[in-house]
Amino acid sequence: MAKPYWDHEMERALPVLQTLQDAGHEAVFVGGCVRDAVAGRPLKDVDIATSATPDTVMSLFDRTVPTGLAHGTVTVLSEGESYEVTTFRTDGDYEDHRRPAGVEFIADLEGDLLRRDFTMNAMAIRADGTLVDLYGGFEDIGRRIVRCVGDADARFQEDALRMVRAVRFASTFGYSIAISAWRAIIRNRELLNHVAMERISAELDKMMDGAGPHRGAVWLAASGLLQHTREPLPAVFAAPKRGGAVDGSEVDASGSNNSSGIPPLTLEALERLQHRDDRWAAVFLALRLTPDEAEETLTRLRFPVRRTSAIRAVVRVHEAAAAHAANFEAAAQPDAAAAWVSAVLSTGADAAAAWLRVARVFAEADSALGGTALSPRALSLLEERLAAMPCTTVRELAVGGTDLAERLGMKPGPRTGQLLQALLRAAASGETPNEREALLALAQSMEEERMNDGSYTS
Ligand code: ATP
Ligand code: MG
Repeated sequence: MAKPYWDHEMERALPVLQTLQDAGHEAVFVGGCVRDAVAGRPLKDVDIATSATPDTVMSLFDRTVPTGLAHGTVTVLSEGESYEVTTFRTDGDYEDHRRPAGVEFIADLEGDLLRRDFTMNAMAIRADGTLVDLYGGFEDIGRRIVRCVGDADARFQEDALRMVRAVRFASTFGYSIAISAWRAIIRNRELLNHVAMERISAELDKMMDGAGPHRGAVWLAASGLLQHTREPLPAVFAAPKRGGAVDGSEVDASGSNNSSGIPPLTLEALERLQHRDDRWAAVFLALRLTPDEAEETLTRLRFPVRRTSAIRAVVRVHEAAAAHAANFEAAAQPDAAAAWVSAVLSTGADAAAAWLRVARVFAEADSALGGTALSPRALSLLEERLAAMPCTTVRELAVGGTDLAERLGMKPGPRTGQLLQALLRAAASGETPNEREALLALAQSMEEERMNDGSYTS
């Protein structure tokens, strides 16, 4: 039989379906993989749903991990791949607009598909390749529409996160949001405050990482959704400029609905950045958040500390660059070089490189970034200077604290630390070669100078 919506990932996973079927159970591919196969996109991961209970699943395969037994999910390891196998279930009554009170395992696929959020996510593919599409997901994918399974108000009231998921899917796939769903979002948006920040954050991050994050940004602003998070996000991030209600047929993210507070050109340029954290930094810069505000936002969104500080550092580079923008434009100025070196050393080369990528994309889109537009020519010069810096951290210096202490006859301590920083500035800017003898000589002369002026105290 022909399998029109098949994919090699499904072919690989077929033995798992077959093992379940051979034992007398129903087993199908479900969720995102079916949606992506129907839409002709490459699959990320292949999820399986089955009538077999989790215990049965664990007994049928040699290698399993009980990853989410409470929800009926067992991870099956098969031929070097891992698959989430989830028992058909219905969600019990929802508590607090965010989670079912309990799940009930059931024997039929139909009930399992009914609990899913959107028509495109509520389809299944059987081992023989047949598509099970009870709610019109196929047609909605053809029409490029995100539509709730059943009554939109009810679905968003059960789990308010689905409102953000609707925006995320529409944004990433370039779909529109069914008007029924959009109106229900506007009516139910306050319920988002029942949802854990990390769940919201995960959806926003996927949106930012996907194609066309500008589309989602426009919807988020137009819907006012982010004004209702449990922990407040900065007003400028969450608040629409104008009223939230949007009328008309299906809603699409054209510039006409843009109430995000960010100029459309700036938003569209986001897509040209490869890394999601560059995109986050660009959004914060476009919204003119300070480094502290950016950090606060990411902390509330439960971002990992490392990503938070990396993104904050990019905003800091921008602050430094904005302060010296005029100098940077008048390229040859020595102050400009010194200012850039100190910005790079205080924020780190990675942050400087990330800021350059962001600033470059915005310069090419002819769009001011956080009120500062540097010309491509000025940016090229900064790029060249960054690339030419022989070292940007103390670790990369050709001398260490012990070398210094030995040469200067002092103990390694705060003073050697200060000297290393001074040597780093000299070496990074090219004033002194990053070579042992040259650096030691410089340290010696700095130390002598200090002893000669009154500041030497001990
Ligand atoms: P992605 O490709 O981004 O992973 P996905 O559709 O696989 O998208 P998941 O969050 O991995 O999204 O969820 C897998 C499936 O589980 C969905 O396709 C959907 O059928 C169902 N699902 C997930 N979250 C919800 C929810 N909050 N409410 C209802 N159904 C959901
Ligand atoms: Mg998935």
